[in-house]
Amino acid sequence: MDMDPGIREDLMHELKDAFVDIRTETCIAGVSEEGATLRHRNQDYFFPCDTVVLAIGTKAENALYGALKSDVDVDVVGDAYQARKALEASTEGFYQGLHA
Ligand SMILES: Cc1cc2nc3c(=O)[nH]c(=O)nc-3n(C[C@H](O)[C@H](O)[C@H](O)COP(=O)(O)OP(=O)(O)OC[C@H]3O[C@@H](n4cnc5c(N)ncnc54)[C@H](O)[C@@H]3O)c2cc1C
Repeated sequence: MDMDPGIREDLMHELKDAFVDIRTETCIAGVSEEGATLRHRNQDYFFPCDTVVLAIGTKAENALYGALKSDVDVDVVGDAYQARKALEASTEGFYQGLHA
């Protein structure tokens, strides 16, 4: 949803041209050998399939920061602080470098 609008528009066209079945307000509630259970507005239904690929977002991983911070002067920037975009990560890295 927070994608660059120009790229998003192109991507939506590509998905439409490829007949990709897009289901909004839907989450995956379970997986079995036969397929996936999908949940839409508290209603579960079964979707038969062979393969399930999860690409469901990002979150910060900074266990190393936690392990180091009591021993050395260390700061955390970029996706390790909060998963966002390359511009935030490089800006924070730039300013952190300036003030080091
Ligand atoms: C599929 C995908 C598409 C994306 N598309 C866009 C986009 O179109 N535009 C955009 O602006 N952003 C996009 N992003 C987000 C962008 O990639 C990140 O915000 C950005 O790369 C974060 O930069 P970073 O330097 O904080 O972390 P990273 O780029 O993840 O760099 C961290 C580096 O640290 C290394 N590392 C990890 N642990 C250790 C360790 N213990 N020792 C040594 N090295 C270690 C990793 O291997 C990695 O190379 C996308 C992200 C993904 C996953």
